[in-house]
Amino acid sequence: MLKFLLLSAALSALPFAGTAMADPAPAPHNVIIFVADGLRSHIVTPDTAPALAAVRRDGVNFENSHSVYPTFTTPNAAAIATGHRPGDTGDFGNVIFVGQPFEPPYASVVAGVEDDAMLDRLNARYGGDVLNETSLLRAASLSGFSTATVGKLGPAGLQDVSARDGKSTILIDDATGYPSDGGAPVPKDVLDAMAGAGLDVKAPDRGLNTYPGAYNMPGVRVANTDQQAWFRDVATKVLLPRFKAAGKPFVLVYWSRDPDGTQHNQGDSLNTLTPGINGPTSLAAIRNASDNLQALRDTLKALGLDATTDILVTADHGFSTISRQSETSAAAKGVYRDVQPGFLPGGFLAMDLAKALGLKLFDPSGYEIEISDAVYPRQGSAVIGPDFAHPVAVVAGNGGSDILYLPGADPAGAARRIVEALTREDYTGALFVRDDLGPVPGALPTSRIGMSGTARTPAPAIYVSFRSFSTGCADPETCGAEVADTTLQQGQGMHGSFGRQDTHNFMAAIGPDFKAGLTDETPVGNADVAPTAAQILGLKIGGAGRESGRVLTEALAADGRPVAHESHVERSAPAANGFVTVLNWQEADGRAYLDAAGAPGRTLGLKP
Ligand SMILES: [Zn+2]
Repeated sequence: MLKFLLLSAALSALPFAGTAMADPAPAPHNVIIFVADGLRSHIVTPDTAPALAAVRRDGVNFENSHSVYPTFTTPNAAAIATGHRPGDTGDFGNVIFVGQPFEPPYASVVAGVEDDAMLDRLNARYGGDVLNETSLLRAASLSGFSTATVGKLGPAGLQDVSARDGKSTILIDDATGYPSDGGAPVPKDVLDAMAGAGLDVKAPDRGLNTYPGAYNMPGVRVANTDQQAWFRDVATKVLLPRFKAAGKPFVLVYWSRDPDGTQHNQGDSLNTLTPGINGPTSLAAIRNASDNLQALRDTLKALGLDATTDILVTADHGFSTISRQSETSAAAKGVYRDVQPGFLPGGFLAMDLAKALGLKLFDPSGYEIEISDAVYPRQGSAVIGPDFAHPVAVVAGNGGSDILYLPGADPAGAARRIVEALTREDYTGALFVRDDLGPVPGALPTSRIGMSGTARTPAPAIYVSFRSFSTGCADPETCGAEVADTTLQQGQGMHGSFGRQDTHNFMAAIGPDFKAGLTDETPVGNADVAPTAAQILGLKIGGAGRESGRVLTEALAADGRPVAHESHVERSAPAANGFVTVLNWQEADGRAYLDAAGAPGRTLGLKP
């Protein structure tokens, strides 16, 4: 818009402006950011995902793409929204430590970020904007664009955390129509248009796609097609026609829950590592995401918007099949009535650490956990200490990585003891310790992975990425498995680790501002999406943060200069038992792109 206004002003300053000698100002461009949650780069082919493969073939193929670590949804949603890594946004994981608990029913020292009602509370606690950065959608809205964010609860809302009033950016997600769940109000003319198009004005639930099964019962066998048909129809039958009618430039973020939700919950592979997340249910979910993208492109064409609209396609992270096996974990030797005998229970990291430190375990709302066959910290999160009021460590259970906070009197001593204990566990892949608590042998500093910035939420003390490996196929990235701290079963799906199967997200772009048919070998990542879109639209985003992404100039038709890049390997000092964390990363335009990290032999895709 800014570019458009400046151009108009320049034209009107010319003598005889407005006569036949001046060309009309070019139509302003629009941007759609399409996110396929949990889509691995290499799983996309013309067979598995024709619309996604077509964008990659006809537009820009970002083949050297990167999720932000930790490879969870909300840290990447925040990066896609703002162009900043977790050190600036404070979105350090899907589950983060918040210190003082919120009021019931949120009375916990940890908070799940994938929740509109929780986003409201986090905004209220952290300066009105938990992310502390101006997102692309907010900048567009403030500049008079039409803006909307549609899709999965949590990451959709994170695209503009100020969009809670129904007046600026339109937010359509799982909570739409349910104000008690934090659903944002929707403008009346949008509700009327939904009803006019024969659409329910309340979001449907996931139906059969919801239930993950149990240790003795397979999970789902259907993709999230019904719920996403509603999101698709709201976007194609209501929002895009409304944007067209408004005649202003627009930004739309469309967040497809598939393939993520289906890959997590699928019932194709109960207690076995193969086919894991490559069974028919997961493939149907990948196809579902692709079909949603095709519907958006078909609508752009039908409305005559295709020549002026750029589409950036990304995935928040890759994906892995879950392994729940360990030879070293004391927790795995226990007996639990809902865990396959010998497998790791959810909460194994907290259980093993409490034992190693000789301390008690509490659930995050304060109840002491005395381990039995029915009682254990199955959600992963727990407080470790002599009593709840004096925590030594807080574990935020997240999946393929766990995040530890050390709120006690001697955090440096606790960090050293915890790292020493974790180097003895076979499930430990990579270890990172906050710079002010180290150096600690066996671990690298968290500043190396984008965690030092202007975040408003408490900074994690330790990241533990769990072990990952190939289950055996021609392209290991497409059949990665990882240990995960989760209630899901071996053979279902998870992400969050520092293996390349989780960091290698799908990325591509197409439209008037992008080169056509380019294979881009330069490292790119999710923090680059918003800066690139902002450049195209003439918007200013971000804030004071230092952990920012770059404009992908090499992919833009108007610029196109190649960007120099190089690869690096960094190693920690060895722990007493020889454990070393190795980090593979690339550098372009002063930015770090993190490929993989871990002990040699314990991380898929790591070059030692
Ligand atoms: Zn995700």
